[in-house]
Amino acid sequence: MRAMEAYDIAVIGAGVAGMMCAAVAAQNGRCMVLIDHAERLAEKIRISGGGRCNFTNINAGPANFISANPHFCRSALARYTP
Ligand SMILES: Cc1cc2nc3c(=O)[nH]c(=O)nc-3n(C[C@H](O)[C@H](O)[C@H](O)COP(=O)(O)OP(=O)(O)OC[C@H]3O[C@@H](n4cnc5c(N)ncnc54)[C@H](O)[C@@H]3O)c2cc1C
Repeated sequence: MRAMEAYDIAVIGAGVAGMMCAAVAAQNGRCMVLIDHAERLAEKIRISGGGRCNFTNINAGPANFISANPHFCRSALARYTP
């Protein structure tokens, strides 16, 4: 690993939030380091939805999501395919 000064951003915690944050920052040209104290990363992603994750699947669309803001899921579903 390089010295911490070599990175633009350090993200602590390689769960779904940290991985997403690190991926988007890297896509925007930032030099990232993602740090986690666990031996296996993304353990909760692995167990979510009974091991299958479940935000969406190939047959789900915005109409399948219940939310106070029905538009909430539209951009996520449009940007991140199953
Ligand atoms: C059994 C189970 C089933 C689930 N099923 C679903 C589901 O079906 N659908 C759904 O949408 N959600 C589900 N969830 C919830 C979903 O998994 C979590 O909301 C989501 O994973 C949280 O992501 P996160 O990145 O915020 O946190 P986490 O996944 O908890 O990631 C945090 C990371 O930070 C690391 N960390 C913590 N402290 C430190 C530290 N001091 N130094 C370094 N690293 C550190 C941890 O090791 C971990 O890797 C489920 C959760 C569980 C437990």
